[in-house]
Amino acid sequence: MHPANVPQKPILEARKLCKIYGSGNTAVHALRDVDLEVVAGEFVVLLGASGSGKSTLLNILGGLDQPSSGALLFDGNPLTGVGDDVLTTYRREHVGFVFQFYNLIPSLTVAENVALVTDIARDPMPVDEAIDLVALMPRRNHFPSQLSGGEQQRVAIARAIAKRPELLLCDEPTGALDYTTGKLVLEVIARINRELGTTALVITHNAAISGMADRVVRVADGRIASIDRPERRLTPAELAW
Ligand code: ADP
Ligand code: MG
Repeated sequence: MHPANVPQKPILEARKLCKIYGSGNTAVHALRDVDLEVVAGEFVVLLGASGSGKSTLLNILGGLDQPSSGALLFDGNPLTGVGDDVLTTYRREHVGFVFQFYNLIPSLTVAENVALVTDIARDPMPVDEAIDLVALMPRRNHFPSQLSGGEQQRVAIARAIAKRPELLLCDEPTGALDYTTGKLVLEVIARINRELGTTALVITHNAAISGMADRVVRVADGRIASIDRPERRLTPAELAW
């Protein structure tokens, strides 16, 4: 995609991010001096045990939470030391979130759930284009309760990407899914990364998923323990766990 010798501009830069929940002797140091750069178009897997700080990091990178100290830049612009309005705009215009549980509106159809986002976004894709990207056109008029967990997660992904965000942040997107369904969801995330060029960060505690990443960031005890670049990026179909 990028010639190896051309310096790539990071879309996200985290410098010495620290996050402390609470204070005094109940203080939890969830992140300690996290430095991370993410290049536009990358597929990054964040791997780590439960409680290691993955969600805290993703929430800060997505502007859902503020670090206790340290700096975060998106596209060269600071997201720390700024007002809530700046973070709100950042989230609304640039970030798509996918969580373990799909958070769809039960009384709305697939297409209506996605339209909730396209109705208010600045330059959204047509609803059906988003639904087609997750291969759910035959189900566009169904309600969430009529879909499997994996299908509901794909709707959540369609909703997240319909506003054409630069970043797709996924926190344990396959955490509630079985093996086969989980792979289908990963296929969809990989496809969006590949076809739309959306930078993707995917949290998992499943080491097998790291095979599909450009880079694997291991988080342990609030720190980045290692960053690896697999020689070859596998397709989700090639992953086994
Ligand atoms: P992970 O996503 O890797 O499981 P988290 O980022 O959720 O880890 O949590 C990292 C640490 O911070 C854990 O020790 C967790 O208990 C703690 N933590 C997370 N959120 C809060 C909170 N709102 N208040 C206090 N402690 C928290
Ligand atoms: Mg978590």
